[in-house]
Amino acid sequence: MPVSRLVPSQEAADLLDLTRQLAREELAPRVVQAEAEEAFPRDVFRTLGRAGLLGLPYGEDVGGGGQPYEVYLQVLEEIAAVWASVGVGVSVHGLSCFGLATRGTAEQQQRWLPDMLGGELLGAYCLSEPHAGSDPAAMRARAVSDGDSYVLSGDKAWTTHGGQADFYKVMARTSDDRSRGISCFLVPADAAGLSADPAERKMGLTGSTTATMRFEDVRIDADRLLGAEGEGLPIALSGLDAGRLGIAAVATGLAQGALDDAVAYARERETFGVPIIEHQGLGFLLADMAAAVETSRAMYLAAARLRDAGQPYSQQASIAKLVATDNAMKVTTDAVQVFGGYGYTRDFPVERYMREAKVMQIFEGTNQIQRLVISRALAKGGTDRTTVAGGGFALAR
Ligand SMILES: Cc1cc2nc3c(=O)[nH]c(=O)nc-3n(C[C@H](O)[C@H](O)[C@H](O)COP(=O)(O)OP(=O)(O)OC[C@H]3O[C@@H](n4cnc5c(N)ncnc54)[C@H](O)[C@@H]3O)c2cc1C
Repeated sequence: MPVSRLVPSQEAADLLDLTRQLAREELAPRVVQAEAEEAFPRDVFRTLGRAGLLGLPYGEDVGGGGQPYEVYLQVLEEIAAVWASVGVGVSVHGLSCFGLATRGTAEQQQRWLPDMLGGELLGAYCLSEPHAGSDPAAMRARAVSDGDSYVLSGDKAWTTHGGQADFYKVMARTSDDRSRGISCFLVPADAAGLSADPAERKMGLTGSTTATMRFEDVRIDADRLLGAEGEGLPIALSGLDAGRLGIAAVATGLAQGALDDAVAYARERETFGVPIIEHQGLGFLLADMAAAVETSRAMYLAAARLRDAGQPYSQQASIAKLVATDNAMKVTTDAVQVFGGYGYTRDFPVERYMREAKVMQIFEGTNQIQRLVISRALAKGGTDRTTVAGGGFALAR
């Protein structure tokens, strides 16, 4: 059953209709096989880009859709309800465009952004390193200025779209200052010295490639620096505020998909002569799942509306990410319960939803780090963007 939504314009309603149609026709027929075969659906991103769905929150002057964030997130939720790996990919691609869209010069934006937002170029986001996930300011990757170039070296772990992307938004150290010595670069995939390790063998999201990227004396033109030297960590972390809302929307979509499947099964499956949904114990489980999904949606929409109004929203983004991903874990686990023994088999998708939900509590700042961000804001008596925006909490130190 389609989710009932309040959207701000007829254009937004049309976008959601288009998304549902594409999800039904392009994603649903492929998701099961692609996830089983760990096959990355590169062409799907081109399809979504050409339909205008990859650049929704960016300005029309650079090829984006000029839509409020609340509309973009609901589109993302609808995609993730059918295919979580693609939802995560759309969110990460949006994150990889963020630095260019917000801190790039007009020349840099005109050069790359239309193809990035139109789906011709797929992006990746390289912040984490093998020893530095929650604490990104501990990164070691370096970029050394050399005439009209920078030379990058180091390893970037866990890169979503690693080895598949056309460009990498890379945070690397240009000085030893812990948080103010990091800069942001846009590195083309074909740069000499850049390579991808074999993809990680993951528990879930197997249709989304994740790999460590190796930078061995990768020389790039100096005009691929985004913003000024030393601004890389603030660029990365403010992008994560928006990215966390993306993950909250993806987690909500995943949970909605699990709820829909569980309700459909519970209306069909009979025990003791009645559909199992009519047993109060099971019906109440479904009611709690529905309440959790609605709560998640309300949380990310509230944070997005603050963002759309130009208000600080870091703390609310962390709350939305925390609530929506914890709810997704619970709802998908309960969906397996609704299916009984069949839920534990690969004949039904609910076990996959449960595996997919787990990582949402881990990436874009673990849920421990979200609690840290929220509690630090509380301790300071409000939201302070310079101290609470972290993927970790690097700037607070
Ligand atoms: C599938 C997948 C895709 C990813 N995609 C990307 C990507 O595209 N780009 C990118 O840059 N990164 C990506 N990541 C990395 C991800 O953001 C990190 O894994 C995450 O930030 C956690 O870092 P870590 O794995 O190093 O764990 P650690 O930082 O080592 O943390 C280990 C545990 O300690 C806890 N912990 C750490 N510090 C604290 C603290 N101060 N207080 C309380 N608890 C704490 C954590 O919550 C966690 O439970 C991805 C990860 C995965 C699994």
